[in-house]
Amino acid sequence: MDCDVDVVVAGGGPVGLMLACELRLGGARVTVLERLPDVDPTIKGGAITTPCAEALYRRGMLPALAEVQRRTVDRFRAFIRAQDGGSGDGAAGGDGGQGLGIVGHFAGIMLRADLVDRTEPDLGDAGPAAEIAFVAQQDIERLLGRRADVLGVDVRRGVEVTGFDPDGGAVTVRTSRGAIRAGWLVGCDGGRSTVRKHAGFAFPGTDPETTCHQAVVEMTGAEELKVGWTATDTGVYAYGPMPGRIVTVEFGGPPADRDAPVTSADLQARPRRVSGGARLAHNIDVIYHRRYGR
Ligand SMILES: Cc1cc2nc3c(=O)[nH]c(=O)nc-3n(C[C@H](O)[C@H](O)[C@H](O)COP(=O)(O)OP(=O)(O)OC[C@H]3O[C@@H](n4cnc5c(N)ncnc54)[C@H](O)[C@@H]3O)c2cc1C
Repeated sequence: MDCDVDVVVAGGGPVGLMLACELRLGGARVTVLERLPDVDPTIKGGAITTPCAEALYRRGMLPALAEVQRRTVDRFRAFIRAQDGGSGDGAAGGDGGQGLGIVGHFAGIMLRADLVDRTEPDLGDAGPAAEIAFVAQQDIERLLGRRADVLGVDVRRGVEVTGFDPDGGAVTVRTSRGAIRAGWLVGCDGGRSTVRKHAGFAFPGTDPETTCHQAVVEMTGAEELKVGWTATDTGVYAYGPMPGRIVTVEFGGPPADRDAPVTSADLQARPRRVSGGARLAHNIDVIYHRRYGR
């Protein structure tokens, strides 16, 4: 069959780039199509799990990850020192200084250290990979992007997959810059995947029950904020571990319109609502925010 490449990977996020590198190692000709011109600066993942670090370790990426983590942790420490007014006692332990013994969280749902089974094989015996956690998604994407270049993956940025037509054991991938014929198309184009929708794959799940926002803002009154995660009767809010990063989790139900743009007024009101009008009530003056999501 007459194909331009063996595999087209739609989406150059961490999954698409990692997969493309693995396919390339296996000898396939791979093209990654990524609609964004550059790595998305929007805050997403701030840390990786041990199994993820292990997978990257097996591909020789540990030194690069360790270097990124070192710089990240230095920045965290500088932020915490500045927030503490240089006292260095740090309100921002892993659990936000609340003494709860928290080892991680998922969307603000905290994971208590005493509930972790250290005899679990996925957690034990991870070797040097166990040292790696604080690597942001953007850094992973940059590292994987460089690796893809070195391995000879054809990464095309600023190209959007708009649809595809399978036929005769191959697939014609329609894009914003014309068509590409490939043996295979893999959809790594995120949670709202065009490939998934076009292929008609089901995406079962449960309806949302909370409303979460994350933003990086410039603000006045930041010194009043408590660094780390703080639970209240109406939700959870977090400040840090970098200047201006705010997260709110509201328990009052899902957003009325999840695609509505997030406004500065929103970002003013949400922390107040979650904090119950306590410490945050009148101290935040958001003067800039970056939209999260799309
Ligand atoms: C707020 C937040 C915090 C998170 N924190 C963590 C964390 O701490 N640790 C962790 O491990 N995970 C975290 N996650 C989850 C993590 O971000 C995802 O698991 C990860 O992004 C999935 O990677 P992916 O490559 O599958 O998709 P994505 O990262 O969504 O990448 C998809 C890519 O496809 C591109 N794309 C989309 N449509 C098209 C198209 N039609 N054509 C071409 N390109 C397209 C997009 O631009 C994007 O670059 C977090 C997620 C969010 C939202």
